[in-house]
Amino acid sequence: MQIKDAWFTVEKIDDITFAISEYGHWEQVHSYLLIGAESAALIDTGLGIDHIKRITDQLTKLPIIVITTHVHADHIGSHDAFETIYVHEADADWLKHGIKGLPLEQIRKDMARNITIPVPDTFNPNIYKPYQGEPTGLLGDGDIVELGERSLIIYHTPGHSPGHICIFDTKKRYLFTGDLLYTGTPIYAFYPSTNPIDLVNSLEKIAGMKAVAKIYGGHNDLEMDASLLDEVQEAVIELRKQDVVRHGTGIHRFHRFSVQF
Ligand SMILES: [Zn+2]
Ligand SMILES: [Zn+2]
Repeated sequence: MQIKDAWFTVEKIDDITFAISEYGHWEQVHSYLLIGAESAALIDTGLGIDHIKRITDQLTKLPIIVITTHVHADHIGSHDAFETIYVHEADADWLKHGIKGLPLEQIRKDMARNITIPVPDTFNPNIYKPYQGEPTGLLGDGDIVELGERSLIIYHTPGHSPGHICIFDTKKRYLFTGDLLYTGTPIYAFYPSTNPIDLVNSLEKIAGMKAVAKIYGGHNDLEMDASLLDEVQEAVIELRKQDVVRHGTGIHRFHRFSVQF
């Protein structure tokens, strides 16, 4: 399977798991397609600069359930192309009505800057609007999304957003961490809408997961070794010990990742 595409980079993680990445944009966003026996899950839908459905159509004919790690513009870009959309209940209002206090001009600026490859003709940053719509289903902590011979467990991991979730694929033992955990650039918990205490609690929650084989985040490096969770555990202890778990304390660097409060 080789997909040549002007905007997206498709990487085959294994026979039934694909990463769909947007390396031409400074945010280096990853979405993931997980194929089961009866349906497929698309974890996030990217920036919306180009149409991710063009890619998923080539990878599967199964019905697709979109699972939203959280409602930020860079993760819901192509939601409008899909019929079934799940989101955690605590982010559902943002999906329906947008994020209060976040100016559209700011979103457009961030969407249009530092792009290193040609964008499609259909992308116009001046009229770009993040997806808004009614979700098909609401997710809660411990929920299971069944794809047929492949079950996904939902972990509520607030902090970066109130309804942020991580997704554990029990078949392959992959943990999809969205914007709770990635390497390369700081994890963002400095916006007014973020909650540093919740974020650290959420990091502690995933650090305790024993069955994880690989970690896949929402940005930058595609694949992270499960040993990163040991480092997360130490970081949680260190952040609390230093008493810096609040807005305004800046960037806190660890060996493989960093957090900005
Ligand atoms: Zn985010
Ligand atoms: Zn993001």
